[in-house]
Amino acid sequence: MENERSCCCAALDDLAIVGMGHSEDLDARILATLDTVKDHGGEQWWLHAATCNQCGQHWMIAQESRIHDNYCLRRLSGDEMHAILALSQWPEDFLRFEQVLRLEREAGQVACFLDPRSPALVDTAHDLRRARPEISVADIAYALAISTGQAERLFRPRRWFSWRREDGGGRG
Ligand SMILES: [Zn+2]
Repeated sequence: MENERSCCCAALDDLAIVGMGHSEDLDARILATLDTVKDHGGEQWWLHAATCNQCGQHWMIAQESRIHDNYCLRRLSGDEMHAILALSQWPEDFLRFEQVLRLEREAGQVACFLDPRSPALVDTAHDLRRARPEISVADIAYALAISTGQAERLFRPRRWFSWRREDGGGRG
């Protein structure tokens, strides 16, 4: 099958949300031909740019492995890729983690955490608020695909009285 197209680029939408560990290995098949060209680095740990080694298509990829476990891919023009490589100017779509989470939510590809106070949820809720201090609890709840009440509880200190601390300092 040497003349068969061996990449998935043409079949993908310009913006594609693909679950990690897809049951038919869709994510693995898509990523198999995408070579990372540049990592964003810094605070945007989820973001990199890649080029397909079969058809030459450029992609910007958010690897969101913290909450909903998806790859978010956005097709890039040659000019956009050039701006990334030459000027470190990235399209804005995936620059804020909140945007990535919202895209996943809009696509309906969201995770359900068994632990409502999972550290990933708590940390991300605080990160979202740090990144955009005026963000509402409803917006945080939407991005994390949880209820508003649960989102509110992520900001409360964890209560430790499920175990008793021995006073007296003898135990070390
Ligand atoms: Zn391709």
